[in-house]
Amino acid sequence: MSGLHYCHLSPASERSILILMHGDEQGAEAENDALDVLRFAKVDPDMPVPMLTLARDILQIPISWPYDANCPKESDIVWIEGAWRIRIYHHLKPEREAYCIGHETMHWWYRKLGRVQLPSEEWLCNRGSAALSLPPPAFRRALKHFKYSPRQIAGSFKTTEPMAHLRIGEIDGRPVWWNGKQRGAPFAWGSHPSLLPRSMAHRVSIDGGWGYMAERSYLRALEARADER
Ligand SMILES: [Zn+2]
Repeated sequence: MSGLHYCHLSPASERSILILMHGDEQGAEAENDALDVLRFAKVDPDMPVPMLTLARDILQIPISWPYDANCPKESDIVWIEGAWRIRIYHHLKPEREAYCIGHETMHWWYRKLGRVQLPSEEWLCNRGSAALSLPPPAFRRALKHFKYSPRQIAGSFKTTEPMAHLRIGEIDGRPVWWNGKQRGAPFAWGSHPSLLPRSMAHRVSIDGGWGYMAERSYLRALEARADER
């Protein structure tokens, strides 16, 4: 039994959220829902398309954009003239576009299926949006290529650095922390990761602030100790 609660995907022994990291059933549900959307759109998850292309051009979801400069929210989805329409608001930062369109696309999918999932729908749409923008196969290749750099991954997928950073935990299982959010295997982050020794976790520049990533040598030592038991 691994003390890290990594869940191994046999036979490749690959860490994968699709098989569920412990306690992440809801995450796996959202990942699978997003893969269903890509399948429905006939988009290869190994070659994701830009979110606007997926939503507007392939799935043919009407998008009003920019909709209303004075609205405080970023986006929503409304039933207008016989169709669900995504409204993107004027003040949206360009790097937030993919996230918002992805989020509303997941709402669209759940409405299309007639699935009413409150109160977890918002959570599923957030996670599903990450999965539409950064599907597991393409993300794993990017991880390797960009050596776990959230900045480079975000640039490559035209998404935000926090999303790329948290996605490392979701896909790879390696524990990551940003702004109080934790992803990946359970990890002793303590009251704040800045208090942890450098041998346990290191800082990662995220949007001009700091995120944290568990140190690989520390994880390996934990795994070795768990195997001895
Ligand atoms: Zn929503």
